[in-house]
Amino acid sequence: MFYLTPVFRYEKPQSGRLREHHQFGIEYYGSFSAYADAEVISVAKSLFDELGVTQLELHLNSIGCPECRKGYSAALKEYFHRFDDRLCPTCLERLEKNPLRVLDCKVEDCKEIAKGAPLVTDYLCEHCVEHREKLHKALQSMGISYVDDPYIVRGLDYYTGTVFEFVSTAIGSQGTVCGGGRYNNLCQEIGGKEIPAVGFGMGIERLIMVMENSALSFGEAPSGQIYIAPIGEQQNLLALRIVDELRKKGISASTDIMEKSLKAQMKYADKCGFRYVVVLGDEEAEKGEVTVKCMATKEQTVMKIEDLYKLF
Ligand SMILES: [Zn+2]
Ligand SMILES: [Zn+2]
Repeated sequence: MFYLTPVFRYEKPQSGRLREHHQFGIEYYGSFSAYADAEVISVAKSLFDELGVTQLELHLNSIGCPECRKGYSAALKEYFHRFDDRLCPTCLERLEKNPLRVLDCKVEDCKEIAKGAPLVTDYLCEHCVEHREKLHKALQSMGISYVDDPYIVRGLDYYTGTVFEFVSTAIGSQGTVCGGGRYNNLCQEIGGKEIPAVGFGMGIERLIMVMENSALSFGEAPSGQIYIAPIGEQQNLLALRIVDELRKKGISASTDIMEKSLKAQMKYADKCGFRYVVVLGDEEAEKGEVTVKCMATKEQTVMKIEDLYKLF
């Protein structure tokens, strides 16, 4: 499944974050295998490659299943409580609810303390170790490089095992452009069946920011293929029909819907970058034949109205 949708933040947005942003994501349901994780990661990677976004690092971690996380949470609690006097108030709260999130804190002091914290990889159960190694092998086989990063925890309780982030080296501290992981228990937790899943979400505005910072081109906006310029009301009706038929054939066609003069229409067609322009007057309508002007070469061809689609 994929989605492309606006997302709204309820709490006060931190700096560099938006109240409303747009997110693209995919979700893969039904496989417990690490190969599914690898495939999902490769989809994100191909997308970045396609856009020319190269200054990216894939950070990868496993935060274990609920079984191995019990031991790890306890170890984190014990470790961080030694620094109760230095941790920020948010972290002190996190320590009770979800100690993993302390690893994610952006406050300097907390970050410093987190450096000495026990590593999740030392607490993974046999099954989680196996899954992690399998994913590493799959990524290596696909030539996708990654950084083992035990500090990626993704801040959401539903993740199981794999978590990952694509981090840009082109923008500052808000460098994560894509984040995801595996969430085998989420379906069940919200009342569904037990269905394993893995996926990612990608912030479009963040991605655009990275592309701008890397001076990447966004390409030309697609322009229309053919513009029919009718002269007079009778021909306007005919033009509407021609355009409708061309569109049904998948051709991007347009005509006058503002009842502009021919001169104004030609100016408009030129500005919009249409590939072909056709003037439709009484004579053309009568004969069923029009002169097609190619805007790039200025070449003119006479052809039957019903053959216009053959231009494409
Ligand atoms: Zn486990
Ligand atoms: Zn903190």
